[in-house]
Amino acid sequence: MASANVTKKVRQVLDLTWDDELPVEPVAIARYLLITKGDEKRNISMVGRDDITFSGQARYDQEKKRYYCEYNVNEPSYRQRFTQAHELGHVVLGHVRNGVSPKRDTSFAVRSDDQDEIDANQFAAELLMPEDYVRTAVKREFNVNKLASLFDVSTAAMHYRLKNLGLL
Ligand SMILES: [Zn+2]
Repeated sequence: MASANVTKKVRQVLDLTWDDELPVEPVAIARYLLITKGDEKRNISMVGRDDITFSGQARYDQEKKRYYCEYNVNEPSYRQRFTQAHELGHVVLGHVRNGVSPKRDTSFAVRSDDQDEIDANQFAAELLMPEDYVRTAVKREFNVNKLASLFDVSTAAMHYRLKNLGLL
């Protein structure tokens, strides 16, 4: 079930950092985002890696006071973008805690019972496919493949988003 809290967080992030241009670029968004913890302001770095066997992970570096969202550059670009947004979700939603080893994400397509994973997937879908923009785009062009390419997401991700918005 979709969480209203996740939707609220996505809206805050888009309001603060997004230039209203499609496709939404998680790498650009991460650059403008600061996470406040107590009186600390923490930056986020998006790091593409070609030496990992999983899709991505989010971690916090205590010394550098910086979050790292890592994504596998050997995967298709729409998948990398979803991973970037998913890992950013883990950071923004407070899933990355000090002293907790990062979660390695292998596949987001598999249905998961892990609430953090479900929430990070919702965050990614809503960040890459903002509701108002999807609703507007659908009125102009109702073709899942074309919509997927406009938002630069997989056809499957677009299909889910349309379904969840009651448009399919
Ligand atoms: Zn995850």
